[in-house]
Formats: sequence, structure tokens, C-alpha cells
Amino acid sequence: MTLMGWAAARRDLGGVIFIDLRDREGVCQVVARPEVSEEAHDAADHVRGEYVLAVVGEVAARSADTVNPKIPTGGVEVNAREIRVLSEARTPPFPIEDDINTAEEIRLKYRYLDLRRPRYHRNIKLRHQVTMEVRRHYDEHGFYEIETPMLTKSTPEGARDFLVPSRIHHGSFYALPQSPQLFKQILMVAGMDRYFQVVRCFRDEDNRADRQPEFTQVDVEMSFPREETVFDITEELYVKLARLAGVEVAPPFPRLTYKDAMERYGSDKPDLRFGMPITDVSQEMKTLGLDTFPGLVDAGARCRAIVLPASSGVSGTRLRKVNEELWLGRIVPDSRASKRNLFVLKAGDDAVTNLGKKGASETVARRLLERVGAAKDDTILVGTDAEEPVSMAMGILRLEMGKELKLVDEKAFRFLWVTEFPLFGYDAKEKRYVSLHHPFTAPRDEDRHLLDTDPGKVRAKAYDIVLNGYEVGGGSLRIHESELQAKIFRILSMSDEEARDRFGFFLEALQYGTPPHGGIALGVDRIVMILAGEPSIRDVIAFPKTASFTDLMTGSPSPVRDDQLRDLGVVVIRST
Ligand code: ASP
Repeated sequence: MTLMGWAAARRDLGGVIFIDLRDREGVCQVVARPEVSEEAHDAADHVRGEYVLAVVGEVAARSADTVNPKIPTGGVEVNAREIRVLSEARTPPFPIEDDINTAEEIRLKYRYLDLRRPRYHRNIKLRHQVTMEVRRHYDEHGFYEIETPMLTKSTPEGARDFLVPSRIHHGSFYALPQSPQLFKQILMVAGMDRYFQVVRCFRDEDNRADRQPEFTQVDVEMSFPREETVFDITEELYVKLARLAGVEVAPPFPRLTYKDAMERYGSDKPDLRFGMPITDVSQEMKTLGLDTFPGLVDAGARCRAIVLPASSGVSGTRLRKVNEELWLGRIVPDSRASKRNLFVLKAGDDAVTNLGKKGASETVARRLLERVGAAKDDTILVGTDAEEPVSMAMGILRLEMGKELKLVDEKAFRFLWVTEFPLFGYDAKEKRYVSLHHPFTAPRDEDRHLLDTDPGKVRAKAYDIVLNGYEVGGGSLRIHESELQAKIFRILSMSDEEARDRFGFFLEALQYGTPPHGGIALGVDRIVMILAGEPSIRDVIAFPKTASFTDLMTGSPSPVRDDQLRDLGVVVIRST
């Protein structure tokens, strides 16, 4: 037989030379014995790390003392009759093994060597399996994979566009798609019924942790769906994808409204791998009989509590640190209310009696303990602040404490849907409403009457799917009436002229018989990252960019020649 691959290791045991030959699937031991072949032994003598070899020989069982049970080929070896060097190699700048701590910049510069490591072979294979599963899944459900343009017009997903200058139309630019949103909706107008695409999207965003300027989505749209239709089809896919990581998950996934998610977990992407829900105890704190709280609550502040189980054994010293470093030091500084210590309460008769001695109502204290579900010796932390900051701050505190107390089940996959997002947020700087999802998202029917009077209160037919604290997909049912769409643009302070200019083609398309439609987009990079148990999406992308959006291997972005710029009619303003 002939075996080809890379020389991962070579051991010369005086007379016998062993070579570990590596390919995509793993390694196989090759043995060059002079008594089998002088030539093969001579050739093996010249082999160095990462040489590419063709080995002709016979597979044989290894002797009992050399069997390696740790690798699938550990019971056999190949006795080489002939070894041909197909390619020599320079000494790589880092070892081609999983456990190295070479700086990422070096690894990315030599990404082809980095990718030779088994870890990346595993990750890239998993990614392939994910996209294959995706394609099979949507095909089975009657979706067509349809490509949409990469050179297109700006679509609003809230980030900056990457622009491509047109050579033929000087002064005009294509935008790389932030998503195929408008095209997929137009495909529904075109009667395509069900569309999906594994598609690259481009967003020029600053300072977002672990983001890439280009990333891959599974983009989905269908005609005549209810929200449940989208949920069912998506859940079925996630069951299959989780299985690729050996995890069984059972639909239907839990659903939480945005309001409940913010109140109970202080996040619109709660990590449900542990409990520790947040409870509103504003009423109890107001009536407890302690000085400061009634005034604060009457002025609109909310009091929110989490419970640290007695078994977690947090000490008083640790709690003081949590208050100083986490709560006052990091969480609260930007919020509106003055810096106010966390209120700490122990569950149990003694603690309640003590509170009573300080003038508090023991009945209310007991009601509070019952409300948060505290058992004896649990510790209750109560944060007080205006609604939004307290809910976010308690969310962060919950996550930090959950991690610190090791309550997170690292192996679990906890999916959930977050629904009923607000349709708009308010941009105080620009003094206008902005879409929280995108402007094509439909308002909930029961809130539609508020569009004219109180847009900030309108909830959307929008949903996110969350896994272990990460948003792994998001979508909505769409507006399919041209009039309503035009109205939404107006609420967003877009003049009719601007709306026509940017989206005229779309508003027009909506007038030619548009089916109710909706869909979702799933983030492939993040999903594969979680399935692979990797810390960064860069670990599951073959050629990722750095945090500052550069490609260290090719050296892009890079300046271009003046004649190219002239051709494009582009003048570069060089900063000095
Ligand atoms: N286009 C949206 C996004 O990229 C997803 C959707 O609404 O389907 O987030």
C-alpha cells in the first residue's frame, strides 16, 4: 500500500527509524528497517519535520510493547519498502501540535501551519458537518438555496457598510451586504415560498469583542409562517446540530419574553446553564421599614435580588469585595442612581430577628425571603437602581456569581427563545427612534395602535434564539404592507424622500402582492464555536481576521497602486 502525508515526528533508534506520518485523519507509524529496505532506511534518515512523503510498504501489527492505545492506528505500523520525499519543508516557526502557547499573531501569519494542527482539523471538519446538516435540513423542509448578490446596495442592520467603488460608474459605490434581508424578502414577493442560504455577511463595526468583519449566517425566509413555524423548523435543526457535538436537546425550547428575560436574568440572552434568577423585591424593600428604600422606590428605583445558596459558602469578606469591586467598582459607576451598596440579607430566624432589632418589619423580611425562595443560611443580595441599570447590573452580577460559585454546567446546551422585543429603541443623542432589529420587522397586532401615540411601547414580532448566553440567531415576521412600511420609516425620522431614495424599489415591490412572510438568520461561526467548545470564533474560521480586522497571512488590507485608484476615480486622503 502507499501512504502519503506529512512527517510529524522522526525517531532514530539506532538502526530502526520511526516516522509518524500525519494527514487529515490522524497519524500512522512508519518503520524503516535496513533489513527490509536499505533505500527506504537511507531516505528516512534524511526526512525532517513536515516533509511530505509517499511511503510504500505493508501494514503489520505492532509488537505488544509498542502498541499505543491512545490513537486509532496505535495497534499497527507500516513497514516501509520505499520512501519518496514529495516535498521538503523549512523548519516551522512553531510545533504542529495541539498544546502550544505560540502567540496568535504568529499562528495567524502562518495559518496554513496552524491549520495543520489536529485541533483545527477537528474544528473545520465540524464546521463542514454543520453546513452539510443545515443544507440537508432546509432541503428536506422544501427550502431552495438561492444566492443573493455580494455587490449590492446598503441594507441596514445597524453597522457601517464596506463599500466597493464602481470603475464604470465613477463616484458610485456598491455595498457589501450586511445581510441579504431585502433580497430574501423580495424572493418571497417573487413567490419562492421558502429560501435559505449559507451566506457571508459584512459589517464594519468597531470594538466588538470576538467579531469578524465578515461572518457566515444561515439566512432563512418563508412565506405564510407563524412565529411557531419558524421556531419549530429552527429547533429541529438545532437538535441535529447539537447531536454533532454528542449532546441531546429536547424541543420545544423554553420561551421568555424580552421583558421577563430582562427582569429575571438581567439580559436579553440569558445563560440558563444555571438558575439563580433575579426577583423584583421593590415592594418588600419599600415596606421593610428601613430608611432609604421607600424614597428610592417611590422615585422609580427598583430593588432586585439574587440568592447565593448556603452551600456556596461565600464569606463576609468575599461579599464585601463583591460589593466594592463588582457592584460599586464595575457595575454601578455609569448608572443614574447614586452609588448604593448592595443590601445583604441572610436567610434564617436569627438574621430576621436581627433585622427586627434594627427597626425592620420581621413579617416583611420573611415575606421577602419567601418571595426569593431562600432556604436557611442562603445569602440574598439586593441591588437598587433605576429599572434599566439595575436589571443589567444584576444580570452581570448573576453571571459573575454563577461562574465564581461554579454553578454553571459547562457541558449543558441550554437553548431558549426570547420573544416580544420592543420594536424601537430611543437614541437620545440623535433624538429619534431606532429599530432594535431592523426596520422591516412587524409590530405585534395588539400594539399597532400605539405606533402613533407611543412608539416606544410597541412590541415586535421579533425573536432571538439563545444558547448558553450567546445569541445564536435572530429574526422576525416582516411587514408586508407597503403603507405600514412607509409609516415605520417615518417613525424612524426618515423623510419620504430618503425612504424612496434608499428603499423605493422595495416599497414598490411590496405593492405587487406580497405574502405575509418572516424568517431568521443563524450565526454559523458562533454555533460551531459552541459545538466545538472553543473560546473564540477565530478558532472555527479557516482564515479569520484579527481584532483590528487585518489578515496577517496575506497582509490585507493594503494600499493599492495609484493607477488602480485612478481607474476607480478614487482619491485617498492620506493622514500624516
Ligand atoms: N437579517 C437579520 C440579521 O442579519 C435576520 C433576520 O431578520 O432574518 O440579523
